[in-house]
This record gives sequence, C-alpha cells and structure tokens, in this order.
Amino acid sequence: MGRWLRKWLLVDLLKGLWVTLKYTPQPAFTFQYPQERRAVSPRFRGVLRLQVEPATGAQTCIVCDQCAKVCPDDLIALGGHREAGLKIKVLDYFDFNLSRCSFCGLCAEVCPTRPIKALIMSEDYELGSYSRETQIIRVDQMYDGPPIEVYTR
Ligand code: SF4
Ligand code: SF4
Repeated sequence: MGRWLRKWLLVDLLKGLWVTLKYTPQPAFTFQYPQERRAVSPRFRGVLRLQVEPATGAQTCIVCDQCAKVCPDDLIALGGHREAGLKIKVLDYFDFNLSRCSFCGLCAEVCPTRPIKALIMSEDYELGSYSRETQIIRVDQMYDGPPIEVYTR
C-alpha cells in the first residue's frame, strides 16, 4: 500500500487503537510491592544469607572460612571461637560487603555443611541503602536481612 494511501486511510492510527483494545480487557500485571513480592526463579541469586537448623535454631556455620577464601573480591570476613563441649566453633562475626558483590555464588557453592547449607544465595533482592556503611552486612543481619521499610502516603 502506498504511503499516501496509508496516511489517508489512517492505517497506523487504527493499528495503534487495535493494540490498545486488545490489551484493555486483560487484568493489570501489577504487584503491590513490598506487600506483594513477585516469585523469583529457582536459581535466582539474591543477597547472601546464613541459615540455622530449622528445628532447633542452632548455628550451622562451622567457621571453616572457605567462603571467605574463595571470594574473588575478598568481601567476606568471619571469625569464631571454640567453647568447651561444643563440636563446632561459635561464630563471632560475619561481615559481608554487599556493595561490591558480583553474585557469582562461589561462596555459597563451597559451603560444605549438609543437609542444611550454612550460606546460601537467598531470594532477597532488596539491596538498596543510603550509605556505604549499611552495605556491610553484619552477622545479626545475615540471617533475616535488614527490615524492609514500608512507606505510607
Ligand atoms: S557471591 Fe561471589 S563476589 Fe559475592 S561474596 Fe560470594 S564469592 Fe564474593
Ligand atoms: S563456608 Fe559455610 S560453613 Fe564455612 S565459614 Fe563459610 S558459611 Fe560457614
């Protein structure tokens, strides 16, 4: 069809209107974030998290330092101490520098504890904060993460 005829018959306008009409009856694809969260794919690599034994809440990390050693950017620092009567070391600190993490997953991959992996790439994707200091995640926030702020109008 010639350009002039297309213009005269308003073909492009009608095409645009047709697209609008086609999608209007469909429900809106909107999530009321943060109340509603979109499910992530099973292999999603979110923020690193430490895990406890689900039944007892006991520490699963054995303070082996493998995650810190394998990290290509040296973003994990951890330490612990021995206590009489305990088989594993008690985790004293676990500092993770989220700001430079490339989410390569190597640290979670090498974590040797079974059946519960002490260190996992979680489904959490709330990474933003207002200062560099808060990008260093300390041990108390490594389990559940920082609380999510819910803004109101
Ligand atoms: S995901 Fe990769 S870059 Fe991030 S802390 Fe683990 S090993 Fe380091
Ligand atoms: S690799 Fe796993 S068990 Fe070892 S120190 Fe890191 S988190 Fe703990």
